[in-house]
Amino acid sequence: MKKLITLLFLGGGLQAQELNFEVDLRSYQYDLTLTTSAPTEPYLDLEIPAWSPGYYQVMDFGKNFHDFHAYNEYGDTLRWIKFGHNTWRIYTSNTKELKVKYKVRAERNFVGTAFIDKERAFLKPSALFLHRKNEKDTPAQIHIHAPSEWTKVATGLDSLKAYTYYAKDVDILYDSPLLIGELKELPPFEIGGKKHRFLGYAMGTFDGLRLMNDLKKIISTAIELIGDIPYEHYTFIGLGPGNGGIEQLNSTAVAFTGQELEGPGRTRTLSFLTHEYFHHFNAKRIRPIELGPFDYSQPNRTNMLWVAEGLTAYYENIIMNRAGLLSAEEMKKAWSASIANFQKNPGRLKQTLAESSAKTWEDGPFGKKGETISYYEKGPLVGMLLDIRIRTATQNTRSLDDVMRYLYHEIYKKGNRGYTDAEFIKICEKYAGTPLDDIFQYVYSTKELDYAHYFRMIGIDLDENYQMTLRKDQTALQKKIYQDLFR
Ligand SMILES: [Zn+2]
Repeated sequence: MKKLITLLFLGGGLQAQELNFEVDLRSYQYDLTLTTSAPTEPYLDLEIPAWSPGYYQVMDFGKNFHDFHAYNEYGDTLRWIKFGHNTWRIYTSNTKELKVKYKVRAERNFVGTAFIDKERAFLKPSALFLHRKNEKDTPAQIHIHAPSEWTKVATGLDSLKAYTYYAKDVDILYDSPLLIGELKELPPFEIGGKKHRFLGYAMGTFDGLRLMNDLKKIISTAIELIGDIPYEHYTFIGLGPGNGGIEQLNSTAVAFTGQELEGPGRTRTLSFLTHEYFHHFNAKRIRPIELGPFDYSQPNRTNMLWVAEGLTAYYENIIMNRAGLLSAEEMKKAWSASIANFQKNPGRLKQTLAESSAKTWEDGPFGKKGETISYYEKGPLVGMLLDIRIRTATQNTRSLDDVMRYLYHEIYKKGNRGYTDAEFIKICEKYAGTPLDDIFQYVYSTKELDYAHYFRMIGIDLDENYQMTLRKDQTALQKKIYQDLFR
């Protein structure tokens, strides 16, 4: 079916209401031309997002647009006005086809926005490509004119021919960044017949095959956990030195260099890549109901980033451990350090976990230390207690894994939607077979987490520094749960 659509599309040329982008990078800046059909109404509103999924901050990408011009099919100038930062109204009377030319400033080297310099371009679609307001089903085609030395492209988009890419709608367009330059590609691998690639800029010299072997273990473990491979191909897009990563449905863009894989940084880097990879399940597909379909024009507020981000952080260690890349001892140390770190923040008594999610648009992605909390810090800790609670309530026949699988297969795949706060609680309680008010009070109130209580349930004592020791009276069942968690 997918092939057929592509062929029809290729044969038909420019479809009605299609977005057709020419991206000229040959002078190492963003020169864009959008061609699209004019509407029957006397004007067309074109919009650029105020924010981009995966980075929950208002960016107002239209602020970076300049040299904006609109023309009809004869090259006559069309009148336009701008609303706010992100909307352009083009007056299109007696126009069949509309051409808009504009430039975009892109000097900030950051995974959350577009960037270009003499060596590479990171095309963040939500920062570059306009869409027709309220017409998110519009397909888009991108043709790139790159400097001749920029021979490689890293993206999750399907390619129609060299430097030409196709997105079936605006959501896919905005979900698909592209990196172009003199990139290096690591040896790809397949899982379940699906190709996994890693291309990057300035990755440095390191053992690329070893990294890909480790990633294969990580990805196989994550796929085994959820029980599906939902994409046709997956691409890691390495942006070079820097910080941060953003997830998409079939790719992730990550600040990455190979030097970080040497020495003790290796575990941290692999955990980071595990996190970004697992997001295509948890955050992109398993998602809060507020996070998709998206409203790109304003903040999409949810209480549930503690699940989308926090449980993804929880599963970093779990997946690394099951993949044989993090020992039980290392994992225990990591949990102890995470607990100690969170307990040092006075913000834990001032803001609930749900609030930290809803207010991230004001507080910033990691919160305001001392004043608020971060769902990246408290989220995984609540996830850990929740997992212990479900396991102990069910003689270890159920776990948080079952909750994640249900969310994926029933809510996302069958329901084709996100989950609500209430549903998440209900699904956890369904698997635990008991009310979980004791756990969810840690989400919706600032009550202090009683770590010792839950660790005692699996025969572990925590000392004042949250270091774990096995209790002498640990039962066989407690031992089994403990060994399942720390393999
Ligand atoms: Zn994340």
